[in-house]
Amino acid sequence: MVGRAAGPLRAGGSPLIRERRAMHEMSVAHGLLSILQAQAKAHGIARISRVRVKVGRLRGLDARQLRLAFEALAEDSLAAEAELDVEEIVAQARCRACGAVWRAADYRFDCPECALSDSEILAGRELYIESFDGERPDSG
Ligand SMILES: [Zn+2]
Repeated sequence: MVGRAAGPLRAGGSPLIRERRAMHEMSVAHGLLSILQAQAKAHGIARISRVRVKVGRLRGLDARQLRLAFEALAEDSLAAEAELDVEEIVAQARCRACGAVWRAADYRFDCPECALSDSEILAGRELYIESFDGERPDSG
């Protein structure tokens, strides 16, 4: 949905890494905002008041950073006063060999039952707008 970051970039200092991380949230927030603007236009909505977003843990997004980025980008847009609810979804994996299902909260993808590493990810990669609330211009 959003553009991929450029290739690996080595940097020593942590401030730069933090900045790059924040840029990740920025680009996601930017993607969300463009979808919202298109959706609002399509539905004749003039102002967005609340947005519910689902984000899988494997996306490596920081919910707080995402909210801040969204707030900053939404300024002067129809989502300027929108509240962004970020629901994080825990990663879940299933073993293709024995069928065991587990919460991969610690990013473990080896099967806890049979120890094979032939697993598929069931949840944790989500990134979408579940719903949003808005107002039409003349609701009177
Ligand atoms: Zn297994």
